Parts: sequence; structure tokens; C-alpha cells
Amino acid sequence: MMSNETMELESHLRALKLPSMLAEYPAVARQCTENQTSYEEFLLRLAAIERERRQSRATDRRLQKAGFPVPKELSEFDFAAVPKLNKQKVLELGRGEFIEKRENVVAQGPAGTGKTHLAIALGREAFRQGYKVAFYTAAKLVNTYLEAREQRTVLKLEESIRRCDLIVVDELGYIPFDRSGAEYLFSFFSECYEQTSLIVTTNLPFAEWPQVLAEDERLAGALIDRLTHRAHVLEVPGDSYRLQQNLKSRERRSSSGQRRKGGDTG
Ligand code: ADP
Ligand code: MG
Repeated sequence: MMSNETMELESHLRALKLPSMLAEYPAVARQCTENQTSYEEFLLRLAAIERERRQSRATDRRLQKAGFPVPKELSEFDFAAVPKLNKQKVLELGRGEFIEKRENVVAQGPAGTGKTHLAIALGREAFRQGYKVAFYTAAKLVNTYLEAREQRTVLKLEESIRRCDLIVVDELGYIPFDRSGAEYLFSFFSECYEQTSLIVTTNLPFAEWPQVLAEDERLAGALIDRLTHRAHVLEVPGDSYRLQQNLKSRERRSSSGQRRKGGDTG
């Protein structure tokens, strides 16, 4: 093509917002010339590239908006490290039917046992199935309410909550809330009740929830009631996974050290 035609073509592609066609047409044209493919085939390949990349950009944007702090997958979860966790149940939850049924998941256990990992992984499974998912820590959620109140956008926030199919609320229990924080959490759980599925992770047994909800037994009770009305409770007991791994690698190091020592004397 003449260079002014090239410029004209590229200007059309830019104006039509076809960036992948713009980037790929020289290479695809070369290939098609080599393989003597038809004009239709050439256009088909370019259109397919443009469409694929557009879809994958949209997925990336949606995933970014969901707000997962780190990427974790069920396939990376070492179930052998938590033998008391119901693996079948977790895999079943990964299929997402609980979201269709507007059911909740509560993952309960001490720090470092993989609750956040599981919550993110289940959230990402749901995301890939096309559900609208959002991830918050409990503290971030309360802050989001506080900010919305200051900016008079609480209705908008509630609307965006209603639009979600699944919301992860991570780390309920580490940071105690004052009265208004506890009330926001309560209104959040009420908003979601039988509308939006929740995955809540917590280090606290339910009996201790009032401690972090402004010492309000009644409010905590009502909140737990809404959450657990239709909920799958995952007990994630045991010791911190990282700690276990560290101890294991230390054991490996010291036993190989012992072997070396044995070899020296023998
Ligand atoms: P929790 O939320 O229960 O405090 P995390 O999910 O944050 O714990 O786990 C701490 C770290 O250990 C994370 O990097 C997580 O991916 C990893 N981890 C925990 N449990 C497992 C497990 N069973 N298999 C694989 N990685 C795990
Ligand atoms: Mg966690």
C-alpha cells in the first residue's frame, strides 16, 4: 500500500476505535498473502482479534472493579493442610448454586488458616460464571458507608449493593466497630438479606460478635440472624498455613543437616 493510503487506513481504524485491528493488520495481511487466503478470511481474522481483545479488556475491567486484593484460586488451595475443612462442600460452593439460591457462606476460624484465600477463590469462580461480585473488608465496607453518608450518596451505594450477586465481607472481627459502624453493618446485612449472597470470613465465633459490634447484643443477634438464615458455615480450624509451611521447611532443613552430620561421623 502507498504510504498515504496506509495513513488513511490507520486514521479510519483509529476513528472507528479498532485498536487491535490497527496493531495487527500488517502481520495478518502478511500471513494471508503468504497463505493465499481469501479477503473474507483476512477480514474474519482481524475482526476476531478485535472482538477477543475487547472482551478480555472488559473482563479485566470488571475483575478490577470487583476489588479482590490478590488473585487466589481454589486450584491453589491445599486441602490436605486443613483436613477438618469440608472439601466437598467448598468445591460444591465453587459451582455457584448458592448464589442462585441467595444463600450465604460464613468461613470461621483462627488467623492464617486460608479463609481469605477461600473467599477470594469462591468469588473469582462466581465472577467467571458471570456473576457480579464485589470484595470488601468489613472495615472498608463500613468506611464506604461513612463516606457515602458524608457525600449524601447512601442511596446510590445501596443500589450498587443490590446490583451485586455476591459480596465478600472479609475479616469481620479484627477491628471493633463503634455504634455507627455497627449500625452500617446491620443495614448492609439487611440490604443483602435474601437479595445478594454474602461470603463472610471471621476469626470470631458468633457468640463473640457483640464484642466487635458496639457491645450491642441485640443488634449482633439480629445481624447474625439475617446472615445465617440460609448459610453454609465453613469451619476452617487449625494453625496458620504459613506457620505450618515454615515449620515444615525448618524441619526439612534440620533433618537434612542431621543426615549430613551423621555422614561426617560415619
Ligand atoms: P486467613 O484469611 O484465614 O487469615 P489467608 O487466607 O490470608 O488466611 O491465608 C494466609 C496465606 O496462606 C495466604 O497467602 C494463603 O494463600 C495461604 N494459605 C492459607 N491456607 C492455605 C491452604 N490450605 N492452601 C494454600 N494456601 C493457603
Ligand atoms: Mg483473612
